[in-house]
Amino acid sequence: MTTKNVPELSEVQKTELSELFGECVNLDKRERRYYNHDIGALPPLVKKVIGNTDPAAVVKIRTEEDVVKLLEFANLHEIPVVPRAGASSGYGGVIPTKGGIVADVTLLNKVISIDPEGQKVVVQSGIIWEKLERKLKESGLSVRTIPSSAPSSTVGGWLAQSGAGYGSYEFGWGYESMEKARVVLPTGEIREFSGHELKKLIGTMGTTGIITEITLKVQKLEERKAVSASFSDASALKKAVETIRKKNIPLWSISFLNPEWADMKNKAPRKLHYGEIMDKDRPVLPIAYVCTFMYPASRDVSGLKEAIESADGTILSEEIAKHETEEWFKSMKVKRLGPSFIPAEILVPFEKMDSAFEEIKKKIKLPVLTEGMVISDGNVVLLCFMRHSERSLLFNTAFALSLSILKIAEENGGRAYSSGLFFASKKKSVFGDRLAAIETFRKEFDPNGIMNPETLEGKGILNTAVSFGSSFEPMGRLAGNMSGIGKVSFKDEKNIPAKVAELAYSCSQCGYCVSECDQYYGRGWESQSPRGKWFFIKEYLAGREKLDQRQTNTFLACTTCQMCDSRCELDMPIEHAWMTMRGKLVEEEKKMTFPPFEIMAASLLKERNIWANYRKDRDKWIPDEIRAKMKDEAEYAYFAGCTASFVENDVAVGAVRMLDDAGIEFTGLFDKEACCGIPMLVAGKWDVFEKIMRMNVSNMKKKGVKTVITSCPACWLMWHTVYPQWAEKLGIEYGLETKHYSEVLVERLDVLKPKFKQPLDKVVAWHDSCHLGRAGGKVYEPPRELLKSIPGIQFRELEHNRERAHCCGSVVSLIAEPPVAYRLGNIRLQEAVDVNADIIAALCPCCIFQFRVAAEKNNLDIQAQDLGALVARSLGYNIPDSTSYTLESWVPFEKMISLMQPENMTDLMVELLPQMMAAMPAPLSAMMKMVKYVPGMEALMKPMMPIMMPRLMPLVMPKVMPDMLKAVERRVPMPDYMREQLPDLMPKAMENLMPNMLPEIIPLLTPRMIEYIKTH
Ligand SMILES: Cc1cc2nc3c(=O)[nH]c(=O)nc-3n(C[C@H](O)[C@H](O)[C@H](O)COP(=O)(O)OP(=O)(O)OC[C@H]3O[C@@H](n4cnc5c(N)ncnc54)[C@H](O)[C@@H]3O)c2cc1C
Ligand code: SF4
Ligand code: SF4
Repeated sequence: MTTKNVPELSEVQKTELSELFGECVNLDKRERRYYNHDIGALPPLVKKVIGNTDPAAVVKIRTEEDVVKLLEFANLHEIPVVPRAGASSGYGGVIPTKGGIVADVTLLNKVISIDPEGQKVVVQSGIIWEKLERKLKESGLSVRTIPSSAPSSTVGGWLAQSGAGYGSYEFGWGYESMEKARVVLPTGEIREFSGHELKKLIGTMGTTGIITEITLKVQKLEERKAVSASFSDASALKKAVETIRKKNIPLWSISFLNPEWADMKNKAPRKLHYGEIMDKDRPVLPIAYVCTFMYPASRDVSGLKEAIESADGTILSEEIAKHETEEWFKSMKVKRLGPSFIPAEILVPFEKMDSAFEEIKKKIKLPVLTEGMVISDGNVVLLCFMRHSERSLLFNTAFALSLSILKIAEENGGRAYSSGLFFASKKKSVFGDRLAAIETFRKEFDPNGIMNPETLEGKGILNTAVSFGSSFEPMGRLAGNMSGIGKVSFKDEKNIPAKVAELAYSCSQCGYCVSECDQYYGRGWESQSPRGKWFFIKEYLAGREKLDQRQTNTFLACTTCQMCDSRCELDMPIEHAWMTMRGKLVEEEKKMTFPPFEIMAASLLKERNIWANYRKDRDKWIPDEIRAKMKDEAEYAYFAGCTASFVENDVAVGAVRMLDDAGIEFTGLFDKEACCGIPMLVAGKWDVFEKIMRMNVSNMKKKGVKTVITSCPACWLMWHTVYPQWAEKLGIEYGLETKHYSEVLVERLDVLKPKFKQPLDKVVAWHDSCHLGRAGGKVYEPPRELLKSIPGIQFRELEHNRERAHCCGSVVSLIAEPPVAYRLGNIRLQEAVDVNADIIAALCPCCIFQFRVAAEKNNLDIQAQDLGALVARSLGYNIPDSTSYTLESWVPFEKMISLMQPENMTDLMVELLPQMMAAMPAPLSAMMKMVKYVPGMEALMKPMMPIMMPRLMPLVMPKVMPDMLKAVERRVPMPDYMREQLPDLMPKAMENLMPNMLPEIIPLLTPRMIEYIKTH
């Protein structure tokens, strides 16, 4: 089988593929690069041998029919196809070494059926283990075995890659719990594999077809218990496990760490949240072999402790056992101490485990961190990592040590864990007697060799290098052992701060952060995920990418939901890194922020709000009788924020009504209140943020306030966490406490409850807002208690709640790409529809805004209501619903956002060409007019425009501004207050935008300008 190299598709093929898959195809050269690798950091020498691995296209697979269409297309044109799921493997199986099409199967992620009696489940192959486990839990079931990459790896990926995991001590290899698989063969034919036939798929890494469905055997869900113990050496650990086996103690899983790993785990960087350590209670592990034995709570494991102690093991505290099981999916946690890892994954017979460890210690001079999992067939998987730095030249030589570890495994009767691109020469030992049948099958069904070429064959030079390396292993080992751990210190480089660069190299590319990042699932492409952004930074530092406006936008588009931080197995402060990049790129490097932020900034500086409204009208929402009661000075102050003050008054009115009914005396900043500043923080406009923050803090202090009460979670985050940090940085004395009203009111429910007058006979689902929950103070229960206290309410949780709550998709998405925001809103609202909710309740004005707009755009029959407004209405207050006003308010913003797109700005400028030409200095406009008469002038003008326009615009813009304002008004229907203010806001916004926007506008404007001159 010789497969063609396909680095690019022909134009005809591109058109055909786009017709077949529409928006699920990506042909963009830069995006494709994100799909050229797996988790492995390869030494430059190996990279060179492998060559360019960018695919020619990426296709997102939605259905089995998609797979059939894709493979028929690929077969017809002889284009290689590389299946890709979680991309959490490291054997090269997802690397398109011959280009072609990457088939991303992660949208094939549904549970098809669950059979609780028969303890079986049928799933689509791209379902992530973690999601499957959650779905099974609802039916009282659980998977039998699970890889330690469960938050990102898929069921199909584990069958295709093959492996063992937790539960393998009882249930064996992952595939042993798989009964049947449906596969689309390279010919496009669909076939089911079960029983003996299934062996043709196991570990074949996508070379036999694309798996679409799998039937799994599952077990009854049961609480699991764990005992952790330490052993001074591998022989003692071995003895304990042998006794456990002999006595048939019914354990589910046995996994362990070696002393080097335990030591590093103790030294792993702390989990931080806005600089505060979150894992203060992390237990310290003994520097020993630390083994964790897991079993279902109902089982009699009475001999376990004796077996451990008879082998001189020490039972560790329950705290350690709990911690080790909680961290069971964080097997790469210590990678930040690398920041790179040289991996070596081996399988050895259990009885040889201690001698393998001894030899590793004897022969390998670098610390070898090892994690082990015992399998029911009498083998143990040893996952070995050596810390190093891929930026060090010595990384090349140190890499040879992974071959030395492999050799030690072989000498002890073991083998490589998997074959794949790098260990193709070892495939006989990996596949054993299955190899012949697999190869015959592939020849028959894949005559053109399109399915994942080279994955099982390897690359000629690479195979030779591995064979050579194995034969001359002692020499490689000598060089490897002299390589040290290659520690490289990071410094600020090419606009990437040192800390951010170090995190980029630390990222294991495990993908835990990908599927749950709203920026990713709203757009669907790897570049938008946190994993993708880390990959970008490494590529950029290596000189293979550019840090341009497009990439700036990618950093800016993060919604700051911090889902990634909560999922990262390395506990990296990811969102904080993007925030740092915002400051670096927009504040320092003067890259463009999202254009609507410029209008907001101008409005903020002028009128202290983001809604282009008047400062004097800010506190008009305050009901008269509440205003009369509000003190000039008080211990508490209510801070409403912009959206509740100007658009969703029900939020602010509801909040003060509740506080008042609960007997709390409070003051406020009235018309001196300014935006909390968060839009400017995320926009990267930190100078504006600082001004606003200084103003708010100083005004609050003048009122003698001790505690600021907010309704908006973003305001909460600013007052509670960000202001104090900035205050410290700027040397301002702060001393203010911050609470959300729900935290205050939950203490006074006894006062409020008797006052409820009207029941709310509705099904209400609760949405946790990121900035009060995961990305803020983890305030989850007080709002729930408050909502549930409303009489008559039927409370519902959404599928993703509390720490796992999905972001509403508001603010940054709405400003950056409204269609993405509508998609994200739809995804979240759908969860409420799924629990038959009449109302989705939230406490964030921006979430409610987003839900109202998204419900309208997606034609969903669900109301979005504010918690405070619901409570206050039940307390008997007439609080008008602001939904229609919200929708009205969005119209000008939506139109303005659309107008600020380069294509639309170009249209606007074309309309203004007569005025622009007239406003130009006379000699220049005369020169331009020569285009009409002098041959060759047109060709001269094209390269001149990018030089001329940036100089010209500051002269021309003020003169055309009156006409520009009129042209904007024609396109954007505006309320009076906005129209009146536009003459002040627009010039400032344009001044900031033009330098960065012009490069995008000039190529569109130039031909139209030439055309205009020629015809006038
Ligand atoms: C932190 C961490 C922990 C890990 N722990 C374990 C562990 O405990 N046990 C273990 O065995 N491995 C482990 N791994 C390795 C990896 O997670 C597994 O190999 C996993 O099964 C890969 O699944 P995936 O969905 O990510 O597949 P991918 O990496 O996307 O693909 C793996 C291979 O399968 C092919 N493939 C994927 N989906 C399909 C499909 N639908 N049809 C046909 N071919 C397909 C791909 O072409 C590729 O060759 C770990 C990795 C990490 C990062
Ligand atoms: S903070 Fe949220 S949107 Fe931003 S990268 Fe992390 S998960 Fe994605
Ligand atoms: S950022 Fe964290 S979770 Fe995401 S790929 Fe990197 S290590 Fe994994």
